[in-house]
Amino acid sequence: MSLHSLTIHEAGGLLARREITSVELTTAVLARLSAVDERVRAYITTLEDRAMSQAEEADRQLARGATGPLLGIPIALKDILCLNGERTTAASRILEHFVPPYSATVVDRLEALGAVFVGKTNLDEFAMGSSTEHSAFFPTHNPWNLETVPGGSSGGSAAAVAADMALAALGTDTGGSIRQPAALCGVVGFKPTYGRVSRFGLLAFASSLDQVGPFTKDVTDCALMLQAIAGQDPHDSTTSPLPVPDYSAALQADLRGIRLGVPREYFVEGMQPGMEETVRSAMGALQAQGAELVDVSLPATPYALATYYIIAPAEASANLARYDGIRYGYSAGASSMWENYDLTRGVGFGTEVKRRIMLGTYALSEGYADQYYRQAQKARTVIKQEFDEVFRSCHALVTPVTPTVAFRLGQRLDDPYQMYLCDAFTLPANIAGIPGISVPCGMLDGLPVGLQVLAPAFDESTALRVAYAYEQSGHFRSGKPAL
Ligand code: GLN
Repeated sequence: MSLHSLTIHEAGGLLARREITSVELTTAVLARLSAVDERVRAYITTLEDRAMSQAEEADRQLARGATGPLLGIPIALKDILCLNGERTTAASRILEHFVPPYSATVVDRLEALGAVFVGKTNLDEFAMGSSTEHSAFFPTHNPWNLETVPGGSSGGSAAAVAADMALAALGTDTGGSIRQPAALCGVVGFKPTYGRVSRFGLLAFASSLDQVGPFTKDVTDCALMLQAIAGQDPHDSTTSPLPVPDYSAALQADLRGIRLGVPREYFVEGMQPGMEETVRSAMGALQAQGAELVDVSLPATPYALATYYIIAPAEASANLARYDGIRYGYSAGASSMWENYDLTRGVGFGTEVKRRIMLGTYALSEGYADQYYRQAQKARTVIKQEFDEVFRSCHALVTPVTPTVAFRLGQRLDDPYQMYLCDAFTLPANIAGIPGISVPCGMLDGLPVGLQVLAPAFDESTALRVAYAYEQSGHFRSGKPAL
């Protein structure tokens, strides 16, 4: 078996027993990257030199007898997470040459555990999109079929893990940007509870929705990555002081006594033929592991999309005001202040980002805020209450991740509404703040399908347990894309 295709826990075992070195592992991953990324285009920036010296340092620590699940493990970072001294672009012209003087807390935590950073991955500009085609630089291709999208916005991270160009990656999820690309690329992706993981050093899109989370090759690795990044951070006052449980201890294949709700609103008209059957068959495997499946209803689900597309753009319009060509990032260098704002933002932001800024500004403007923004906040409360209510009788919910498998590059680019529909099943979890995982559960038309497990706030353990039990059932074994 080639080293680049290992999981974290497999590689960790080999490293701990000194059967391989981190330098060998990192070299293999970088070689894989140079062999396939010309076609996939998952990375905006690769960090060969930095990675090799981190790997050497990890080997020195291993030689001294140090241990740890991420020590010496090659990992990719979505290019919206600050990495001290390295270009961090958010896939935007406006930050094309921005080099942050500090790292995100999640990045610092991985670094402290001895992880090796392979590179910064492509995304939709400022994480706005579902296909990675809104990157200002280039689109990423789905490793399973290079004519199709990898999903988004963390499409580069998903594709990098699917194509073995990193053992794992970090992404961010505001409305589905981890779970949707994970589903489309056939890897595991996890959005933690809002407040479980620090957002410090994450370039903000929608601050009440954004969360950082892992992409991995299996659920065991997902627990390891989540463990590494979870927990309170003095730099992010929205992080929770709740203790972080041992996530690996939650992984058990026996689901006896577990009630799983199947919300009927997540099977809608317009889903791709075969999608419902594939996901329901995976749910059957959960039953075989001992879980009880119960029909439930979340009647406000159809309003989630509209609610999200008020709240997220409203917050984005405020967050993106800082890119003014004065403090940092691209500046048009015009002589008058207003002209400089206009030109800097006019040239620096892409079409989708401008669309969000306009939507958000409108939703917040005097005379309209009551009708849009405040109404959306009320809808948000209702959606959250409905989840609270079903979680009184169910330990978790199981749903499809996406209505369709990966679509062709360009297919939805001119139709924002079709693009927004990609996240119909993922964004309710962001609105409610609850955790959700996507685990590969089948193939349709030769492309991966994901199963979503949603759990109550701060109960990541149950989401991991159900996803792990599914994986262990052997119902579906994901192969590797032929690249
Ligand atoms: N696709 C959604 C959007 O465009 C979600 C993006 C995300 O989760 N960052 O807003």
